[in-house]
Amino acid sequence: MRRRMAAWSSLFAVIGLVCVCLALAHIPRGQAVTQSLPIIVIDPGHGGYDPGAIGGPQGPYEKNINLSIGLILAVFLRSHHFHAYLTRTTDQAPSGPPFRNSRDLHLRAALARQWHATIFISIHTNAEPTGQASGPIVYYRSGSPASLVLAHAVSSALSSLSGRAVPPRPIRQLVLQEAGVPAVNVEVGFITHPLDRSRLVNSQYQTRLAQAIDQGVVRYLSRGPS
Ligand SMILES: [Zn+2]
Repeated sequence: MRRRMAAWSSLFAVIGLVCVCLALAHIPRGQAVTQSLPIIVIDPGHGGYDPGAIGGPQGPYEKNINLSIGLILAVFLRSHHFHAYLTRTTDQAPSGPPFRNSRDLHLRAALARQWHATIFISIHTNAEPTGQASGPIVYYRSGSPASLVLAHAVSSALSSLSGRAVPPRPIRQLVLQEAGVPAVNVEVGFITHPLDRSRLVNSQYQTRLAQAIDQGVVRYLSRGPS
């Protein structure tokens, strides 16, 4: 009798184990983990028909600098197991023809909403006619306190690279406003400044810029409740 009961309990144990395994098999792979991970949408400005600012008769083109830094930033962010999506990964405007700047900007913001972005980071390269201004500047979505917090985190990380603290500046830009989440536009430097220009096309400096932006994002995402 005792032996028979032991056999039954072994059988129930096996059935129980099979049930647990079947139940686990129905959980979509990775769902429990990925749902809580931040989604960072990186938006390398310009692309394709739109070169952005140009550093001289032979270039460089802003669009290429933005894309290089955006791609490196995605690698850093993914190393923390964050989701990092880019509005473009090649030298093409996201919207395709017919080419219109406003159409392109609307689409970039729409992608951020479609991908359920946690934060949105546009990357651009600055320009001004005197050739005097230099260094990174972080702009944030005007009227968004969370965007200001994000901008502070990114600009303080960038200031340790540039050696100069530049306060974040509010801006009303279509792409930032429509993204609908904490959003910043990181102007990584001035293509019109000789030293900035030579650095901005250097892959090591691009990596350092991307690393600083990454550090700012990590700091922002790991902040406590405010
Ligand atoms: Zn630009």
